[in-house]
Amino acid sequence: MRYMNLSIREIHDAILKGEVTPLELVKEAIESCKKDDNNSFEYICEKEALERVNKLDPSKKDSLLFGIPVVVKDNYSTKDIPTTGSSNILNNYVPIFSSEVVLRLEKAGAIVVAKSTMDELAMGGTGTTGHLGITYNPWDKSKTHLIGGSSCGSASSVAAGIVPFSIGSDTGDSVRKPASFSALVGFKPSWGRISRFGLFPFATSLDHVAYFTRNVDDSAIVLNVLAGRDDKDFSSSFKPVEDYTARLNEPVKGKKIAVIKEIVESISNVAIKEAFNKNITALKEQGAIVEPVSIDSKLLKAIYPTYILISCAESTSNNANLDGIKFGPREPGESFEEIMTNTRTKGFSRLIKRRFVIGGYSLLRENQDKLFVRAQKCRRLIVNAFNKILENYDAIYCPASPTAAPLISGSSDTLSDEYLIADNYMAFANMGGFPSITLPLGFDGELPFGGNLTGKPFDESGVLSIAKVIENATGLKDLVAKEGK
Ligand code: GLN
Repeated sequence: MRYMNLSIREIHDAILKGEVTPLELVKEAIESCKKDDNNSFEYICEKEALERVNKLDPSKKDSLLFGIPVVVKDNYSTKDIPTTGSSNILNNYVPIFSSEVVLRLEKAGAIVVAKSTMDELAMGGTGTTGHLGITYNPWDKSKTHLIGGSSCGSASSVAAGIVPFSIGSDTGDSVRKPASFSALVGFKPSWGRISRFGLFPFATSLDHVAYFTRNVDDSAIVLNVLAGRDDKDFSSSFKPVEDYTARLNEPVKGKKIAVIKEIVESISNVAIKEAFNKNITALKEQGAIVEPVSIDSKLLKAIYPTYILISCAESTSNNANLDGIKFGPREPGESFEEIMTNTRTKGFSRLIKRRFVIGGYSLLRENQDKLFVRAQKCRRLIVNAFNKILENYDAIYCPASPTAAPLISGSSDTLSDEYLIADNYMAFANMGGFPSITLPLGFDGELPFGGNLTGKPFDESGVLSIAKVIENATGLKDLVAKEGK
């Protein structure tokens, strides 16, 4: 019997019934990590996980995450466990403290079994730019299509049934996009809802803790553990937490859902259009009020360039500490300037360097007004437009991507006019700090695609309750790639 392809709740019940022990679960997960052929892992924590599972306090077994294996993206600090951000500039770096997310998981009894591969330093959306190379999509046996990124290894490990949930991070769509390409639920709660202490900063004003599960219930269960104020993160909210499982069975009758007309119209994939329309019909049949709403397409087209400018500027500044002096490997040099130059030249890939050039350029005093400050103004206009919609609607619902997983060979992170709207719009939820969830919507041939639902800040419970109705309507949950649809 395999357990790692079951839901968190099912595994929890199996532990309570005495069918399986946490040690057996950890062994099963570690064995599957070792057999993984999708390049999902930076580091398998075999020794550390076995030590931890043996120290679990049995009196805590009522916690839903007690004894449940989890994979964590390699940009979360883990004490005494290597953490590289999939970048050569942090090879062999071992943090001396753990991120708050990892501490809360451990407190709840979850066991970190591996650190997952990612696009280098979380910049990118393809799952191909980390220092260990391409991470593959378990749904694609030909290994020719992306899983997407930047949280690629966290997505592939849940999609392949290695663990029931995993932690990623989402600055533009880095959990919600790969979730779409791998038939998973990817949830990014509100900015401030989950502490980012110990998460390597990419673009602080946009970075969110986010995670993958295979169904909506599990997503609520994980949020119950992760949400809440942390004094170590000044941006963490004082807003009281809720029981995020409480409203999961709320009916959708009378709720108002906006569909952004311009986003849907920019999609030509027939399978996606059909599945989306069918889902909308099901929501309406249950009494939801689903209406098309317009946003100026100039504003929608501005989301990606605005995102790139702000995120590159913030990441250039945030990553200035990766200089070969404070962390990681150090290249030789006659002066500390030379050491830094040599270390950074060797340590970062082309993609990262390109983004630092964009960031540095936009932050130059003579360019700031024209680029960085202008991008901030654009961000405000974009957020205002979505806030205006959310004043009248409970949530915004659209397909999460214009296609199923694209070919690896055609992937790039440069601007493309063709997919500028539908491929990149989800960053609006990072700009506004909105809770936003992707969940399975259908299949185009063998490859999955998802829908994305975004709600008002701190209305996680509302978003999850509508997501559950969508999930019930599609019937697509608990999907594991190896077993097929
Ligand atoms: N694809 C986006 C980028 O290239 C998103 C990255 C993210 O969310 N971390 O930056």
